[in-house]
Amino acid sequence: MQCPFCSRENIERQKIFENVSELVLYNLYPAGKGHCLVMPKRHVSGIRELGDGEISSLFSTVRLVAEKLKRHLNPDGFNYGINEGDAAGQTVEHCHVHILPRFKGDFVKSGVFHSNELKEEEQMKRDVREFRKLFR
Ligand SMILES: [Zn+2]
Repeated sequence: MQCPFCSRENIERQKIFENVSELVLYNLYPAGKGHCLVMPKRHVSGIRELGDGEISSLFSTVRLVAEKLKRHLNPDGFNYGINEGDAAGQTVEHCHVHILPRFKGDFVKSGVFHSNELKEEEQMKRDVREFRKLFR
């Protein structure tokens, strides 16, 4: 099976930002509004396969996305997370960092980075458009 984060079709649908080395996708199974995934474009399954420069670049992009989300949604906090390996709940074997804006009193269970419901297609399109604008 092709990696969903390397699939041109998924990238077209979910991409909100990219630079030379990273891709930012809107989560198809968002745990909350603004739930983004930042990943290296290079297909690697985990953090340990990345070089120092790649790690640095990845987290600079994480910071950039968090700054955009903070300005746009003004959340009370963020969860940043990486699931690596089956046992840790990694469902797509392409290294990615979850960024989940959090609001006081929201209902998301801690440590869970996606809902069980696939985002409705039209809502997904609206959200992707909304968040793409932050990077213009
Ligand atoms: Zn991949």
